[in-house]
Amino acid sequence: MKTDPNGSAGIGTNMEPFFPERIFSVATDGNQGSPRVLISPHRYIQGKDVLDHLGRYLSILPSRRPVALMTEGSRQRIGAKIEASLKQAGIEPRIEIFRGECSYEEVERIAGVVHQSGWAADSVIAAGGGKCIDAGKCVGFRLGVPAVICPTIASTDAPCSAVSVMYTPEGVGIGPEFFPNSPALVVVDTRLIASSPIRHLIAGMGDALATFYEARTCFRNPSGRNMVGARITIAALALAELCAKTVFEDGRKAIEAVRRGEIDSSVENIIEANTLLSGVGFESGGLSIAHAMAAGFTVIPTLHRDFLHGELVGIGLVAQLILERERDEARKVLSFLKDVGLPTTLDQLQLNIQRDANALLEAMTAAMKSPFANTEPFEVTPESLFSALIRADQMAGESVSR
Ligand SMILES: [Zn+2]
Repeated sequence: MKTDPNGSAGIGTNMEPFFPERIFSVATDGNQGSPRVLISPHRYIQGKDVLDHLGRYLSILPSRRPVALMTEGSRQRIGAKIEASLKQAGIEPRIEIFRGECSYEEVERIAGVVHQSGWAADSVIAAGGGKCIDAGKCVGFRLGVPAVICPTIASTDAPCSAVSVMYTPEGVGIGPEFFPNSPALVVVDTRLIASSPIRHLIAGMGDALATFYEARTCFRNPSGRNMVGARITIAALALAELCAKTVFEDGRKAIEAVRRGEIDSSVENIIEANTLLSGVGFESGGLSIAHAMAAGFTVIPTLHRDFLHGELVGIGLVAQLILERERDEARKVLSFLKDVGLPTTLDQLQLNIQRDANALLEAMTAAMKSPFANTEPFEVTPESLFSALIRADQMAGESVSR
């Protein structure tokens, strides 16, 4: 029987929720506030065909009895590749099919199946998109074993972080679940990611671009905090800044290269920016208005259904920069978003300011409920978010007609 460090057995040992703020946001020097904390995965491995070497990488955990979690679609796409790689290292995984929603019900179901099977798992490999990765981190936590993350797309911040975004079985957002440990391994196969629909890579750029501006806001504001409730290291700010710089410099080139079927250094750089720099950047650097707005947007059913996270973050970022009176930066971001085909106007979000004003104001009220809405040194209200959004929409329209 598998035991956890506290001596209790198997599943159920890690059912207590973990709250990083209770540990890290505690002031360490009188009233000067919390310490600086950097959060990152133990190992990040990126390159063409690295997934073929997964078995070798698992040896550093070490793991001999992984549970591999993937959707049916991912199993057909990469299941054989993962099994072959593990087999070469003499490892046979237990494959579990992820049914698509990162809900507590699905996580408990998978952890329960593994537990009841008697399979003494020593790691959980999550191979797929954001929801599968988030579910894998949850299952690993419940089984008391490390998570190994193999993203198939580069559109989310999920791979590197010690947090999952939870949903109801119907797909309505509930909130984050935090974990005491970051993923043990993040294995990013650039050939696999470059062969996924390019919309994901582009959406990931919108998310990655925001990382720097949001971290900068949290860093500058003495009361700004990162995802674990701690102050921001200059290392995290530098990673976030490099993230934006890389996206501006290599984003357009990477899209062209992927469209030509090539994986050059710009593609490698963008995948690293979208996955590692953006992941560590947001978790250690903190989030702000861009993500609060993106969260608020999801209360509008069509936005929730038809748009990717990074597509909504991009437009939220322009509004954040307008609120911060960073007009030149707002224009620079707008021009990039347009170049790569990310939405910048309400029209592109299939919204109309007259018809949908109430829905948008409701979305901005929802945005204010996000903890990231309170990171500015000035007061932010649903109305100020709304007018920043209208201004962002106008600014995008102006530069179109110019
Ligand atoms: Zn994000």
